Amino acid sequence: MANVQLKALKKSYGDLQIIPGIDLEIRDGEFVVFVGPSGCGKSTLLRCIAGLEDITGGDLFIAGERVNDVPPSKRGIAMVFQSYALYPHMTVAENMAFGLRLAGFSKPEMKAAVQRAAQILQIEHLLERKPKALSGGQRQRVAIGRAIVRKPGVFLFDEPLSNLDAALRVQMRVELSRLHQELKTTMVYVTHDQVEAMTLAHRIVVLNAGRIEQVGTPMELYHRPVNRFVAGFIGSPKMNFIEGHLAAQDSGGHALVKLIEGSTVAVEANAGALAVGAQVAMGIRPEHVLASAEPSPGSVRGHVQLAEHLGDTTYLHVALGGATDALVIRTDPANPLQTGDIAHLHFPPARCYLFDEGGRTCTAADAVADAMAG
Ligand code: ADP
Ligand code: MG
Repeated sequence: MANVQLKALKKSYGDLQIIPGIDLEIRDGEFVVFVGPSGCGKSTLLRCIAGLEDITGGDLFIAGERVNDVPPSKRGIAMVFQSYALYPHMTVAENMAFGLRLAGFSKPEMKAAVQRAAQILQIEHLLERKPKALSGGQRQRVAIGRAIVRKPGVFLFDEPLSNLDAALRVQMRVELSRLHQELKTTMVYVTHDQVEAMTLAHRIVVLNAGRIEQVGTPMELYHRPVNRFVAGFIGSPKMNFIEGHLAAQDSGGHALVKLIEGSTVAVEANAGALAVGAQVAMGIRPEHVLASAEPSPGSVRGHVQLAEHLGDTTYLHVALGGATDALVIRTDPANPLQTGDIAHLHFPPARCYLFDEGGRTCTAADAVADAMAG
């Protein structure tokens, strides 16, 4: 068991700065997920923690010990990669025991450790097989087993499910959560998939271009994104954004936003720092837009470009006038709106977010979160 502390941790390759400086504390037993777009530095950061990359600046502590100059094998970590990297000529049991054999464990010790890991991962019946006789999911389980037998203080996962098909990814996700509940070991998990991040993490670290945009629980990030990047990254389908200008503010915590397509909507937001006329964007998630065939006071008119019926839910792609992308709206399958119809949209003010020109959130999002909690 171990905590992990990053203090002003920097990483460059030559002149190329990948991580300008990260401060982060991962608590003992916590499941932390690094998420962000491809190339943002997730793997680099994980490899720095593992010791597979040298740190250019700052300090790294694992279980309270400064490990900047400690080799990977002495850091008390075990890493699982996207590619399973199993030895093809060894059986599953031999693959899992390999690290222990190198470390000089006795045969009975190795056997016991492999048995226990195989039991946890439900692969006892596969121990004598070679990797080529395993499915992708089974191979990934063996790779995880190889990490478990080493009893690390910290597990490091780098996109371990990316090579699996969608159904298996869902299954393995559930098993990883179960594994964490059973082992209670600190886990640091890298993915570009925000659904994986939302379902696995105690806390999510959203990275962008080597910097932390926000750290928080999945629900904090969903309800209270600090900026437009996080708002757009967390949630699926992603939040809709409509550009506009601040038209007015009232003292009751509402801002009026003149949208680029011409209508004016109210947003429950604290735009106190902004001048009337300032460039802003309004954001609203697909699940919070109300779409009706009938107009209502203040509703915004749009054109249904496409109605996607998924059975349990329907997605409407609705174009507004002006230079806006079509909005994606999640609605009930009983909603009568179909492709080609005129839709009348209502944006509940408490569900709307307001972003300034720099992308910072001005929405009084507490109201949204409290509404959800209540
Ligand atoms: P992610 O895992 O988030 O997709 P990476 O951490 O792999 O991103 O990469 C972050 C950035 O660092 C990328 O721009 C990548 O090209 C660069 N990078 C990674 N490894 C090296 C290297 N050995 N030398 C130079 N640049 C690298
Ligand atoms: Mg990567």
